[in-house]
Amino acid sequence: MLTTTVAGSLPKPVWLAEPEKLWPAWRLSGPELAAGKLDATVLAIKLQEDAGIDVVTDGEQARQHFVHGFLESVDGIDFGRRVEVGIRNDRYKAMVPTVTGALRLKGRVHGGEARHARAHTARKLRFTLPGPMTIVDTIADAHYGNRVTLAMAFAALLNEEARALQADGVDVIQFDEPAFNVYMDAVRDWGIEALHRAADGLSCTTAVHICYGYGIKANIDWKASLGGEWRQYEAIFPALAASRIHQVSVECRNSRVPMRLLSLLAGKDVVMGAIDVADNAVESPEAVAAVITEALRYVPKEHLIIGTNCGMAPMRGDVAYAKLRALSAGAALARAAVAAF
Ligand code: ZN
Repeated sequence: MLTTTVAGSLPKPVWLAEPEKLWPAWRLSGPELAAGKLDATVLAIKLQEDAGIDVVTDGEQARQHFVHGFLESVDGIDFGRRVEVGIRNDRYKAMVPTVTGALRLKGRVHGGEARHARAHTARKLRFTLPGPMTIVDTIADAHYGNRVTLAMAFAALLNEEARALQADGVDVIQFDEPAFNVYMDAVRDWGIEALHRAADGLSCTTAVHICYGYGIKANIDWKASLGGEWRQYEAIFPALAASRIHQVSVECRNSRVPMRLLSLLAGKDVVMGAIDVADNAVESPEAVAAVITEALRYVPKEHLIIGTNCGMAPMRGDVAYAKLRALSAGAALARAAVAAF
């Protein structure tokens, strides 16, 4: 009850990549980089275990970025043909690569780090992949000519990798869909269908993570424009509640999401973000427990899992792990309170 996990990414060691960057440059290359990524994966797992996290991740230590870490393993994308596009409905501009031919996986995407992570922890392992809608929103297309067709093509590749991750011993496969909070109509029209395609045939636990983004300036400015109550979840939770995905990972701590919206996810496991990833102030265990207590008004305790608002990749390492310790301590306080009640 009230188990703990993290949304996905964690800071990389300073010897592996530039700290506090969303797109960090690697500090190693060639075989040294490959070995360093695996070493960092074990380190991230050890630090999560020491912080008391129940369901650990690889910390996304082997990827430079949560979307492009996947795209690098896909044939049919021209990384030399970069186009400037407005991402997440023009929230920020980015130079993105272009789809120029039929998409195909070059081979395994995350097999190395997934098997290495599995070999070095007895705890349940959560593994993240970018969701089809978020990928489509982070790339240019000169081949498929249609966002839905392109999303389904990516979903098929994600499914191929997800099935292989399951065979590697991963317990939870999570698709990251921050774009779901931006294109709410499309979520209902084809976003859920694309997720189902990506999760097709999996027997492990499946999850979708939908947040308001990493703690970078463009996202903080966007949040400031959303008004006193953030109601994006209200438009998409009913469709997610009716979906075949088991868990929904959401942002709650320091957010203006009305907590009562969580009741729209009836029947699902809710991974509630109880840690703010856009603020270096480390939460107290009592503050974490208070968010959990409020969520318990809307989510049955058997369905509530405690996590972070989003990935922590661009944060300072010492801050991120202090926050994970607060997360565990706060969950323990909440468990004790529920047991005593
Ligand atoms: Zn997120």
